[in-house]
Amino acid sequence: SLKGKTAIITGSNSGIGLGVARELARAGASVVLNSFTDNAEDHKLAEDLGKEFGVEARYIQADMSKGDECRALIETAGACDILVNNAGIQHVSPIDEFPVEKWDAIIAINMSSAYHCTAAALPMMRQAGWGRVVNIASAHGLTASPYKSAYVAAKHGVVGMTKVVALETAKEPITANAICPGYVKTPLVEAQIPDTAKKYDMTEDEVIEKVILERQPSKEFATTEQIGGTAVFLCSDAAAQITGTTISVDGGWTAL
Ligand code: NAD
Repeated sequence: SLKGKTAIITGSNSGIGLGVARELARAGASVVLNSFTDNAEDHKLAEDLGKEFGVEARYIQADMSKGDECRALIETAGACDILVNNAGIQHVSPIDEFPVEKWDAIIAINMSSAYHCTAAALPMMRQAGWGRVVNIASAHGLTASPYKSAYVAAKHGVVGMTKVVALETAKEPITANAICPGYVKTPLVEAQIPDTAKKYDMTEDEVIEKVILERQPSKEFATTEQIGGTAVFLCSDAAAQITGTTISVDGGWTAL
């Protein structure tokens, strides 16, 4: 059980982050939800999750594109035994047309936020004598696709940083690993279907069948519950010697 542990999940009012928060809460952890918005629904989401699983749950607003807000998220939470670096965005465009502001935002949110949050959380983990860093990378942290230069660069960067954090904490009861999902049906994936359809000159149904599930041999989307379950495993005693590595949850994508 993760009772007594506090988990901070960045970008967790939707999709994979919310799924991971739910599974960590189910396992008994106190959870801190986060996004850049500060709506009544965000706080209600945490309140409902806390009630559902009988754990402490809070929502803390912080923009993961800003280093000082990343660090403030961890400081405001006041404890961080489990850090899940999940916040992420996508933009699809050929590299020579890739908007500079999209490049900068993807590098900041998908990669640099993991650096800032980890830097702020590690002293707390050391103080507590236990810690888990779980980075939500991607199959695109291990392989590439055209038109996703910033995303692929950021995710490869996260996989590299995961290895460094693992080495720097190797002699401590702290681990750092990356989960590499293939396609999980979340708002992020749904949003890129129209753009991809334009790039490949296909209908949206053809994109799902021929582009998305083309890469995923199982021909099924992974679920947010499965990503959450993998995170819970990485927090278990069975995973205490698993550090500095990646776990693919991709229906065979990276085996191809
Ligand atoms: P999503 O759009 O449903 O969720 C993204 C989350 O990040 C949301 O909660 C959003 O509010 C938050 N977010 C965005 N910008 C933020 C910012 N500036 N500050 C704080 N929070 C911010 O997408 P998702 O599919 O759940 O993606 C979550 C993570 O999983 C991302 O890192 C993504 O790259 C990764 N991933 C997703 C898939 C997939 O198929 N869905 C596959 C591999 C990896």
